[in-house]
Amino acid sequence: MTMENGEDCCVKVAVHIRPLIGDERLQGCKDCVTVVPRKPQVQIGTHSFTFDHVYGSTASPSSLMFDECVAPLVDGLFQGYNATVLAYGQTGSGKTYTMGTGCKDDSQTGLIPQVMNALFSKIETLRNQAEFQLRVSFIEILKEEVRDLLDSSSVSKLDITSGQVGKMTVPGKPPVQIREASNGVITLAGSTEVSVSIQKEMAACLEQGSLNRATGSTNMNNQSSRSHAIFTIMLEQMRKHGPIVSTEGVQIEDVNEDYLCAKFHLVDLAGSERAKRTGSDGLRFKEGVHINKGLLALGNVISALGDEKKRKEGAHVPYRDSKLTRLLQDSLGGNSRTVMIACISPADINAEETLNTLKYANRAR
Ligand code: ADP
Ligand code: MG
Repeated sequence: MTMENGEDCCVKVAVHIRPLIGDERLQGCKDCVTVVPRKPQVQIGTHSFTFDHVYGSTASPSSLMFDECVAPLVDGLFQGYNATVLAYGQTGSGKTYTMGTGCKDDSQTGLIPQVMNALFSKIETLRNQAEFQLRVSFIEILKEEVRDLLDSSSVSKLDITSGQVGKMTVPGKPPVQIREASNGVITLAGSTEVSVSIQKEMAACLEQGSLNRATGSTNMNNQSSRSHAIFTIMLEQMRKHGPIVSTEGVQIEDVNEDYLCAKFHLVDLAGSERAKRTGSDGLRFKEGVHINKGLLALGNVISALGDEKKRKEGAHVPYRDSKLTRLLQDSLGGNSRTVMIACISPADINAEETLNTLKYANRAR
């Protein structure tokens, strides 16, 4: 048995194994992924991988995963630390389900709705000591172009009479651009930022953007599996006085500053499967190439961040190689906290892609 363990790193990696789904059962698929009991270790064929956490399909994973992997990042926001959670995996492996960026009811248990719960209850406990402002944006990157999923001039609307989802786009709107300020802060010029004061408003943004993503093209599945969707929460706080103490009497760290600002990117990545070259369909091939560009660059950035020796030597981190890594630049590495969740199917027909996913995730540690 080959052990493929990574080294310690600032990036935490978790694996989420979904259960066999109806389609796979119908095809008579067998479960080919084994979780080693009481260890964050998975086995497939002759390969064994160890991660920070492994969530198997038998456990009730979502709230445990939230508590262990994501809740600390929410707390970090209140201390001014940027954060990123990335869901990686082949199409159908459960990325959208895990993040909660889908349009179905099951997205209620996803990580983003849980982030909202935690965020708003924390704000509630701190209300006497600080003023908070929240903004959200929701964009997708497709073919190295950034699309605004909250653009109200390009809203998907359900036509009551026909039951069809229609799309109105205002022509000539300039594309969203990624900018870097002199202090290294990355902003999106031309994307909608919605100010929200209550949880319902934030949930509405998630829902609206998810709907926009799913209906952005005539071929829904293709579009959403080829694009990276990024839901971003920006938190600003102005302290009213002195050090902040929570209602439980716990003093929050970093009390010297009066103003803090942090952002949280929650990313439903494009499907990691290799683009199939479909004969004369050159367009599709081009899309595949671009998506691989983002995932490839992300893998290179994360592995450069994880290589302590290289980091000490001030090695180049290739953020500029894709729009995705450019956009996440100030929220990966440095003082920010990053969690990658590798989503996998347990079905034997997906074994090859599952192994690819585990190898990619292993490189991130
Ligand atoms: P992806 O976004 O990676 O393409 P999805 O999130 O759309 O994958 O999941 C594919 C299918 O598997 C969906 O029908 C989804 O409801 C189901 N699924 C994914 N994860 C789980 C899970 N943990 N438990 C039950 N069903 C799941
Ligand atoms: Mg999806």
